[in-house]
Amino acid sequence: MERKKMRKRSWAEPYKIKMVELVHMTTREERQKALEKAGYNTFLLRSRDVYIDLLTDSGTSAMSDRQWAGLMMGDEAYAGSENFYHLEDTIRKIYGYKYIVPTHQGRGAEHILSKILIKPGDIIPGNMYFTTTRLHQELAGGTFVDIIIDEAHDAQNLHPFKGNVDLNKLQALIDKYGAKKIPYVAIATAVNMAGGQPISIENLRQVRELTKKYGIMIVHDMTRVAENAYFIQRREKGYQNTPIRDIVKEICSLTDAATMSGKKDALVNIGGFLALNSRKHYTEASNLVVVYEGLHTYGGLAGRDMEAMAIGIRESVDDDHIHARVGQVEYLGQQLIDHGVPLVQPIGGHGIFLDARRFLPQLPQTAFPAQTLAAELYLDSGVRSMERGIVSSGRNKETGDHNYPKLELVRLTIPRRVYTQAHMDVVAESVEDVFARRKEFKGLDMVYEPKYLRFFQARFKPL
Ligand SMILES: *Cc1c(COP(=O)(O)O)cnc(C)c1O
Repeated sequence: MERKKMRKRSWAEPYKIKMVELVHMTTREERQKALEKAGYNTFLLRSRDVYIDLLTDSGTSAMSDRQWAGLMMGDEAYAGSENFYHLEDTIRKIYGYKYIVPTHQGRGAEHILSKILIKPGDIIPGNMYFTTTRLHQELAGGTFVDIIIDEAHDAQNLHPFKGNVDLNKLQALIDKYGAKKIPYVAIATAVNMAGGQPISIENLRQVRELTKKYGIMIVHDMTRVAENAYFIQRREKGYQNTPIRDIVKEICSLTDAATMSGKKDALVNIGGFLALNSRKHYTEASNLVVVYEGLHTYGGLAGRDMEAMAIGIRESVDDDHIHARVGQVEYLGQQLIDHGVPLVQPIGGHGIFLDARRFLPQLPQTAFPAQTLAAELYLDSGVRSMERGIVSSGRNKETGDHNYPKLELVRLTIPRRVYTQAHMDVVAESVEDVFARRKEFKGLDMVYEPKYLRFFQARFKPL
């Protein structure tokens, strides 16, 4: 009875602001000029021309005062830096992997891992591709095959764990190619390209059992493992009272190795690592890292960067932190849902993914609907987002034609601890206004296309 009488209580961020960075406000004419100069690609805009930057959550987090203090404790010895040992100890404690090799960022770890584990002709099944991950697999001679559940490719499907693996798809691949051709299964937590959608512990356990039977490793793309743990705590039976920290450790314990971009979950502006449980793989990795990144106790990072990452990892698995982080994403998403804006649901962990197919149904995929929408949103308010559709998907290795992904999305990615709820209100209002004018947009033509990861540098003109 007492409870019923209580009013709804709001929550707020578990931190206060100690320093601010002033941002530059622009006029629509200035933005029009900036957009033309950038070839209608938000990656080519200058940051000074952006008001609210939702291009990515990668390396854009606000570090805590403790992390900044950690920078002052950088031990910049070439070999055996204290900060490396602190990082190693932190990763062992929080994630549970045995051996670690620091790298300059996530793709550095993917490069080394792919070189060690993949032979030409190998098949790498995974719960949806990621751009840099798949490219490193291909450069090592492998072929990526998507084994995520079909629901993940349907923006409107409300499955609570759209990052799950379809075990039948995995079994079929093993039957077709044989376990010897499959060096590992790539499992991402909070699957980026599916909209930050989680995998359940139950599904991961089943993948573990199946791969164990055939002696196949699981490599964990753990870039957003804490965000995945949040959804398990919210949605999976039996985990309501389990701390995020424990869920994170349980996820890692079901896998054999991991690549990490510290620029996401770990709350740093640069950094990453490769984590391994096999001594043999560790020996190979610590040899290769010398060639591509740096000595195995710094891997392309300054001592201070490793210190900030070690502190950030501990902060990232705090329940209050992760509730506020994903809570802010949900706050923005709910406003858009209330206004009927089409987006990927359920709302994911690191951003809102607008469904450009339903937003701009008049455009064929070859007129780049998501790229068009990202450009219009910038023009409207100076909010920078990113295309995650046909441009990001690249071309088919054999035929040279575009890959035509089912999902044609615009990602509004929320940096961690950077923006306030008021910024989220401004973003929501701008998306709603662009939505009201959606019939006016005619699409884009690609006028320059780079060979690799074309979405970063491609240029467009209005049709
Ligand atoms: C960002 C990211 C990577 C690559 O990491 P970088 O630090 O950008 O090199 C790999 N996988 C996923 C899921 C990512 O989001």
